[in-house]
Amino acid sequence: MDLSIVVPLFNEEESLPELCAWIDRVCEANGYSYEVILVDDGSTDSSWDVVQKIRETNPQVKGIKFQRNYGKSAALNEGFKAAQGDVVITMDADLQDSPDEIPELRRMIVVDGFDLVSGWKKKRFDNTLTKNIPSKFFNAVTRKVSNIYLHDFNCGLKAYRKKVVKSIEVYGEMHRYIPVLAKWAGFRRIGEKVVEHRARKYGVTKFGWERFVNGFLDLMSITFVGKFSKRPMHFFGLWGSLFFLAGLIMALYLIVAKLLHEEVWVTNRPAFYLALVSIILGVQLFLAGFISELVARNAPGRNAYLIEEKTGL
Ligand code: UDP
Ligand code: MG
Repeated sequence: MDLSIVVPLFNEEESLPELCAWIDRVCEANGYSYEVILVDDGSTDSSWDVVQKIRETNPQVKGIKFQRNYGKSAALNEGFKAAQGDVVITMDADLQDSPDEIPELRRMIVVDGFDLVSGWKKKRFDNTLTKNIPSKFFNAVTRKVSNIYLHDFNCGLKAYRKKVVKSIEVYGEMHRYIPVLAKWAGFRRIGEKVVEHRARKYGVTKFGWERFVNGFLDLMSITFVGKFSKRPMHFFGLWGSLFFLAGLIMALYLIVAKLLHEEVWVTNRPAFYLALVSIILGVQLFLAGFISELVARNAPGRNAYLIEEKTGL
């Protein structure tokens, strides 16, 4: 199969028929063998009925329905598990992404050799104040932290080599950082394509301002997990030692100063409190480090390495 198109959807009943018809048009025109995987993320409207209705006339359309709303990441993850195409394309269900981009995205994977191609909504049709400006900032920080030079990490329209989606696990709200996950899984050829973006035709946006707070918290977790999940003590131990040593040196200095000449009460000196806090912090960090090591030792993925090839085995 050439192509799997994975579409996460939550209450998008009006858009689905139009979207599927459009995808079908593009794929037929290009002669692709394809499937569309519609992942209904616990919709409360009639989206699932619509999915089944579409399937009656178009058997390439397949559906997965969650029992409740788990979020876009979960929907993508299930879609990725089910996908069979050599190239996997994700797009939003709300008709903001154009299926006309599919052939070029596919070409960049198959011919240009990219592992992942991310869409870039260069000209965006969303609310400027609540989406476009925070999004610029968000992308700039993510670029800095991840060293991946994309303009639009969170674009719903992306194309992947099959191996990529089978190697990563999109959990929590990590759909914003799929390129980062892919990079950590060892896929370095990450490209970008300017894509057409359109105003939402039906329904309403499912993400509000919390996306930015959550987004940054997730960025912190993902960098921490990516770097230290297999060796947490290297993080906690380093900072724990630094704090503990700083506190210890201050405490020693206070003791020596007191013994030698000082009349002032040690508890009347600011350095005393700094030393105290520093030592306690240091010990706390060490404890966090030991506990993390215990967790890491028992984590199911502790020895899950992605093997590219083997020879003679
Ligand atoms: N979506 C989903 N589960 C959710 C929220 C959103 O599957 O809990 C889907 C939604 O139906 C759409 C896509 O994710 O297909 C992007 O959502 P939306 O268009 O609301 O985001 P925006 O374009 O406003 O960033
Ligand atoms: Mg949208």
